[in-house]
Amino acid sequence: MDGRLYWITGLSGAGKTTIGNLLYTYLKGKYPNTVIFDGDALRQAFGNDLGYSAEDRFQCAMRYARLCRLLVEQDIHVVCCTISMFDQVREWNRRNIENYSEIYIEVPLAVLEERNQKNLYRDVKDGKREDVVGMDLKLQLPENPDIRLVNDGTRTPEEMCQVLIGELAKERQ
Ligand code: ADP
Repeated sequence: MDGRLYWITGLSGAGKTTIGNLLYTYLKGKYPNTVIFDGDALRQAFGNDLGYSAEDRFQCAMRYARLCRLLVEQDIHVVCCTISMFDQVREWNRRNIENYSEIYIEVPLAVLEERNQKNLYRDVKDGKREDVVGMDLKLQLPENPDIRLVNDGTRTPEEMCQVLIGELAKERQ
């Protein structure tokens, strides 16, 4: 089988989309049968019918996982950038998707707060919202990812992607 799922996970602002897009461009050059998904785009594609509670996030994550499997089974390479911080979802991927690479983009919370994209982390501190994974929502961080990348800003996204490509090559040896 030719397809593979690159499941890129990490907290909001970790760099999933940035690094995922670079990986996608690299893969697409090698394999035209490559697609990229990100959580926000998939939410929209499914009609925004689920919210941001833990249960709804879980249902979203399972949808993404099943959709990715469907494509991988048809020999498509799928880069999926999603928070999806659920052990159960990652276990499902591992059990059900033969060619599965779990990539965890780890960033210290202090760096995330500094990047402060969408003001998510500040709003939690200010008591304006409670639905941010990593702050109030219970976290199930990946414990055994295939690849762990620390994206704390000391390297550019392009350098991070090169590291990722190197790790993926090692994984396949
Ligand atoms: P996510 O998809 O995980 O929410 P993004 O890819 O949108 O995160 O990245 C969040 C922000 O952090 C973006 O503004 C992005 O440019 C920046 N960023 C990501 N990685 C790096 C890096 N290595 N160095 C500097 N800025 C980065």
